[in-house]
Amino acid sequence: MGALLTIDAAIDAVLSAVAPLPAETVALLDALGRAAGDDIVSAEQVPSFDNSAMDGYALRGEELRAGLRTFRVTVEIPAGRHVATPVEPGAAAKIMTGAPLPPGVDTVVPVELTSQAGDQLTIHEAVEPGANVRRAGEDVAVGDVVMPRGAWLGPAEIGLLASVGADAVPVARRPRVAILATGSELVPAGEPVGPGQIRNSNSYTAYGQVLGAGAEPALLGIARDDLDETRRLIAAALEHDVVLTSGGVSVGEFDFVKQVQEELGVVRGFWGVATKPGKPLAFGVRGRTLVFGVPGNPVAAMVSFELYIRPALLALQGRRDLYRPYVAAASAEPVERTKERTEARRCRLERRDGGWVFTTTGPQGSGILRSMALADGLAFIPAGHPGSRAGGSFTVLLLDGSSEERPPYP
Ligand code: AMP
Ligand code: MG
Repeated sequence: MGALLTIDAAIDAVLSAVAPLPAETVALLDALGRAAGDDIVSAEQVPSFDNSAMDGYALRGEELRAGLRTFRVTVEIPAGRHVATPVEPGAAAKIMTGAPLPPGVDTVVPVELTSQAGDQLTIHEAVEPGANVRRAGEDVAVGDVVMPRGAWLGPAEIGLLASVGADAVPVARRPRVAILATGSELVPAGEPVGPGQIRNSNSYTAYGQVLGAGAEPALLGIARDDLDETRRLIAAALEHDVVLTSGGVSVGEFDFVKQVQEELGVVRGFWGVATKPGKPLAFGVRGRTLVFGVPGNPVAAMVSFELYIRPALLALQGRRDLYRPYVAAASAEPVERTKERTEARRCRLERRDGGWVFTTTGPQGSGILRSMALADGLAFIPAGHPGSRAGGSFTVLLLDGSSEERPPYP
């Protein structure tokens, strides 16, 4: 396997192979959960006209300032009505929240500070000139970049785009990810498990992880540990933007994945990362296709995805928040020693005495998915850690959310 890469070196190698995918235009609602494919510029201003921020009376601020406290109410303006006739000096318009200010007035006195009898308005408490008016263009001006290229479009972002009249928006094309499980022992869900066989779970976890990274999974099934079958299915997988195979990348006699990748023209980036789990990760490229062979053990496969594949899928979409957020946390329990590899341990985080502490979620064998399902974080214990009592300070990756800052991996 040669020299094992550090986590950082492996991430750098993967990201340097990424070229962002082209943009496509989709209807606004279809852009939800995707990344802006270009800077999105507003063609409209928000608000589009001066309007009242309160239910109240619109009048001239200078008249209030000069001491005038009684006004004649000459017009009533509900939201949605445009009044073109100017309000005369000494007069006021009764106005509702969001209604356009008529010409001549610049200030709104909230209804709570007034009383009205017939058309006679009395102001009990003055406000500053200009108060309670939302100015045209004060939120967004025409030509403002409302969404920079690469921004993730969530509910607020889609709402903002709707507010400036965007009905079709550029988004990055979703990376198409071929998911292939390898192993003659694997049985798909729904079929009986014979002696010596196990269920395929990696295709399921990968499917979820790929979707969670805004990409499009394509399930290519299971390749038996047979050279021809592996070749046929990896060849089909190479028609995608990203290939994600699991299993068959170790040093076993039937581990054909690396050999087949290379036969099919995949240029090796690296094979082997100094982490536990996840050591035999094989990465390469063919043309613009990124090719990942993650280890077969279910937790190793998931951790490899989190550390290397997720950032790549986000970078393909032009995203800049490639990483999971992290915290520095103390261990709530004694920390077992590590050997020559950095260990990512499944854990749960909690707040204690104003700081973060983590507790591992049980046995850390790289096949034990249950401790992954129970976890909300991965605690990184550096290589060569001698073991320690509870406490200390470790980088803990959160298994949710996104951040532009790469965690400080040991
Ligand atoms: P491998 O990396 O192919 O040597 O596989 C390592 C371990 O992971 C073996 O115990 C496999 O049975 C198991 N494994 C491989 N692929 C899968 C899969 N798709 N789902 C669940 N377990 C798997
Ligand atoms: Mg195998």
